[in-house]
Amino acid sequence: MPWLKTSTLILLFTALCAEASTLTRDMIILTSIEFEGRPSGAPTPHRSAHYIYKQFEKEGLAVEIHSFQFKQGFFGTGTGHNVVATQSCNVAQCRPALVITAHYDHLGRKGNKHYPGANDNATGVAVMMDIARQLKGAQLERDIIYLATDAEERGLHGAKHFVSQLGEQSVFLNINLDMLDIQKRNTLYALASFDMKSKKGAIVRHFERYEVALSMFFSSKRMARRLNEPQIDWLRASDHYPFYRAKIPFIYFGSGVDDNHHTIDDSLAEINFEKLTLVSKSMTGLVRSLTAASDVVTN
Ligand SMILES: [Zn+2]
Repeated sequence: MPWLKTSTLILLFTALCAEASTLTRDMIILTSIEFEGRPSGAPTPHRSAHYIYKQFEKEGLAVEIHSFQFKQGFFGTGTGHNVVATQSCNVAQCRPALVITAHYDHLGRKGNKHYPGANDNATGVAVMMDIARQLKGAQLERDIIYLATDAEERGLHGAKHFVSQLGEQSVFLNINLDMLDIQKRNTLYALASFDMKSKKGAIVRHFERYEVALSMFFSSKRMARRLNEPQIDWLRASDHYPFYRAKIPFIYFGSGVDDNHHTIDDSLAEINFEKLTLVSKSMTGLVRSLTAASDVVTN
């Protein structure tokens, strides 16, 4: 990583000496000054996209960059670059794919202000890469597509593009990870499509086994009321929305309201790594179950 500054290298070195996980390492790198707040809309893939690409490639996954155009302002056009990695089904009879999404773009830099976007959404991307690592070599009854989207912050453009290109490919479920730092309320929140309602008990119990309290909703309004932020439309707030529009079942996982959201204080210092590790383990367990012969959702 020759591009990393000394300050980031010191942080990394300290983390590695303390036997920190790859999850912590990814968080340090994704939020570093060198990654410039992961801006969206650049003509060529940002270094954060290259970094994510490499991590999936290291695990032996088939990785592609899917570039797309989106409207910006009244007359402008931006370019986005999704990183799409596939962990292939390895049984004779494969079932429809599971798509995991996490947007890697954030607000970039404004003047000399650096927006690290630690919770939004380095956490989602780091957990997504951790899942791929943990599931390396696992028997999979369906493809897992890991989709690191770009231009989410500009209007969910990466997810919209991906869904528009699906064609005949059938998707069983979208799991969207956006802001997974659960420290403040000690609860992970989920909004899911109505067809997941009968699975709620099994999913909540699954997370309990990892000591993660899951508060699961099927109505955006109910979730907003519970979080005391009635103005937030959780259905349209993140990358699960284009999947919902395409009638694909979804579960969106997030930390709910974060006071540091879209401020320069959404930084590494605010992240509870112990809890993020628990979230990652529980999410890996869920994905493992959903890609096995018998799972918490279809059984
Ligand atoms: Zn976000």
